[in-house]
Amino acid sequence: FLYNQVQDLKGTIRVYCRVRPFLSGQPDMQSTVDYIGENGDIMIVNPRKQGKDARKIFTFNKVFGTKVTQQQIYVDTQPLVRSVLDGFNVCIFAYGQTGSGKTYTMSGPDLTTEETWGVNYRALRDLFSTTKERQDMIEYEVGVQMIEIYNEQVRDLLVIDGANRRYPLHGFMMNYIVTCSPKLHHLHSQQICLTLTFHTLDIRNNSQLNGLNVPDASLIPVTCTQDVLDLMRIGQKNRAVGATALNERSSRSHSILTVHVRGKELVSGSTLKGCLHLVDLAGSERVDKSEAVGERLKEAQHINKSLSALGDVISALAQKSSHIPYRNSKLTQVLQDSLGGQAKTLMFVHINPEADAFGETVSTLKFAERVA
Ligand code: ADP
Ligand code: MG
Repeated sequence: FLYNQVQDLKGTIRVYCRVRPFLSGQPDMQSTVDYIGENGDIMIVNPRKQGKDARKIFTFNKVFGTKVTQQQIYVDTQPLVRSVLDGFNVCIFAYGQTGSGKTYTMSGPDLTTEETWGVNYRALRDLFSTTKERQDMIEYEVGVQMIEIYNEQVRDLLVIDGANRRYPLHGFMMNYIVTCSPKLHHLHSQQICLTLTFHTLDIRNNSQLNGLNVPDASLIPVTCTQDVLDLMRIGQKNRAVGATALNERSSRSHSILTVHVRGKELVSGSTLKGCLHLVDLAGSERVDKSEAVGERLKEAQHINKSLSALGDVISALAQKSSHIPYRNSKLTQVLQDSLGGQAKTLMFVHINPEADAFGETVSTLKFAERVA
């Protein structure tokens, strides 16, 4: 059944580092990235130090410099994405401090120009075209969920007006969706309007739910890239609701776009399922405890807790430890059956090259080294 073996997988965890360019309008500054090697080396330099102590080398599976395009980033991601159609579970993370380029990698700067589309759209487009190529052999159905984890609470980002009609589904995916999620919505942009109330959703790690760990989050069937673009717009709007400043809020929550795939081989009738989690993590910057108070402190503690729980899980997996501490955060609970086992993980760690960011750059690279 495996049409698309994933090659070159030493272990199932890969770490790629991406360096953000200086932004237009920024003065010509000295970068903290001194050197990027062919084989995954990156050397950083502390602008406020002299001598050999000022430099440090880290090594990852790959390092992408500032000139690398969105398409080039995707080329290396593609085999993982396609393996979902063979029944694998895959997690792709964007990690880094706020402003380092996480959302740029996953979503892109905006949705209007295809050239700058991020991994999310390219992945979905690729899945659709591959299912088409295989349509004589396998019938596929694809559904999407989008959630946010904020202060250890899970919320549905695809909440659509409750007055919507149910989506008329056919085939085997229907059983899977209808039994698991009572909320199915007709996907048609004109009919969609946002609800302002959010419910906190439960996580269930129960194999009977057919791979839906957040069964009450809307699961929306998609058949083309346009469907996905429509949904992302809704998700992005919902993410901003309730936030005083849009960027503020989105940098303090994790957003997870999950693509569920079901396939049925036409001749034998055998079935498969796979899922792809595309995760734009909350900003990893440490918050000065003496300055943060109230809500801000609470947010910082939740983010800190969940990012270190993620680091603990991935490094336990990398070390083939017998105990994997999934239960320590909502993030790792939601992703549990897509981390470890046969599942594949890719982490993009993002570097902001500015001198002021040096301290965060070092801790980002240390985090990445720990999970690599
Ligand atoms: P984050 O999501 O980590 O907070 P963003 O993705 O929002 O960071 O990036 C911060 C700014 O830098 C945005 O204006 C974004 O368009 C720009 N940017 C990030 N990465 C790149 C890149 N590789 N090339 C060009 N601009 C980038
Ligand atoms: Mg962002």
